[in-house]
Amino acid sequence: MPETETLTGARKLIDDLVGDRAAEWDRAGLIPDDVLRTLATRGLLCVGVPETFGGPGASSAANGEFTAYVGSRCSSLRSVMTSQGMAAWTIQRLGSPQQHAEYLPKLAGGKLAAVAFSEPEAGSDLSAMTTTIEPDGDTVTVRGQKVWTTAAHYADMIVVVGRYGSGAAAVVVPASAPGVTVSRVPQPSGCRAAGHADVRLDDVRLPASAVLGGGQPLMLLVTTALAYGRISVAWGCVGILRACLDAARGHARSRQQFGKPLAGHQLVGRHLANLLTAEQIATRVCEHASRCWDDGSPEMVVATVLAKQVSAVHAAQGAAAAVQVLGSAAAHEGHVVERAYRDAKLMELIEGSTEICQLILADHAVSMPG
Ligand code: FAD
Repeated sequence: MPETETLTGARKLIDDLVGDRAAEWDRAGLIPDDVLRTLATRGLLCVGVPETFGGPGASSAANGEFTAYVGSRCSSLRSVMTSQGMAAWTIQRLGSPQQHAEYLPKLAGGKLAAVAFSEPEAGSDLSAMTTTIEPDGDTVTVRGQKVWTTAAHYADMIVVVGRYGSGAAAVVVPASAPGVTVSRVPQPSGCRAAGHADVRLDDVRLPASAVLGGGQPLMLLVTTALAYGRISVAWGCVGILRACLDAARGHARSRQQFGKPLAGHQLVGRHLANLLTAEQIATRVCEHASRCWDDGSPEMVVATVLAKQVSAVHAAQGAAAAVQVLGSAAAHEGHVVERAYRDAKLMELIEGSTEICQLILADHAVSMPG
């Protein structure tokens, strides 16, 4: 089936499954299992997985627009998608042909996954990671503590990054393996239904065939895996901005104050102009990054960091502007703009915070010729 046809049908399915339930899921802190399994069995949580492995095989551009669509409806669901896509991408990039055949059809066919890098003492500075993946003949033993792993609460498998000899590796850990303890992060401030959890790994013994990319330098491995997370979050922020623009525009047209619609007051109009500008800028940087992915351009990594940085900052500012336009109408818990405000701020913290992205971009600027 052509990719556009698949994803057009997929949008309809998202409309049917999400409907107006995102606020209810946010309040409950849970996306119903049947919603996640329905999407997962159709490969719609990781649409970039190639058709050879049962996925839709979407381009980065099509994946991005679909991610934005989901993000405009429910940032928690979009976060689960980002984790699933990042797990699939990590396996694609680091795994052997046998590992692709083993894991990718599962991810495109109904199993759920998360990716764990962060630790209590290794947040922005992932070089401080202490989790170990220790080889022992045909097996490995994984020991460590991961925190804030998005979707871990739902996951059947967790891709855990850790130290492996003098380098690093990722390892596919079944969530049900003896020694794995998954504990939910209580009441996150945003993306509340994304299943964030801390993951303890106490002497988890696995076959050596579960190890991906063993021996690579830690930061190279982390950068490879995070690239997908960054572009996915960036497109998710485009979705947040589109939802905010729709809500703010609708409200500013219909609500009257001082004898005319709010949109007729120039200072309100300025918020709408800023929101439109933010949505357009975020869309353009994401389109550029996706083009780099689809062309296999050497600029891909920097374009992705730029897209994440620009989109997250604009989403946080845009959501705040939308709250301002709606006034008390946005002060109800669960309103689309109120959720966007909480969700967008978190996008500035994750997958490389705004400051960490700025440091990467500064290094790039310094190293440019000329
Ligand atoms: P810190 O590293 O302690 O940073 C605190 C502040 O200091 C930040 O503003 C940061 O930008 C700034 N800072 C730090 N170092 C510098 C510096 N050198 N220069 C300038 N400023 C600096 N982790 C996973 O592994 N998998 C996931 O799926 C995942 N999902 C997450 C989802 C959510 C909603 C959240 C909140 C976190 C998630 N994380 C996940 C963890 C996330 O990646 C970390 O929170 C993030 O890397 C920042 O680390 P930290 O929170 O420890 O902040």
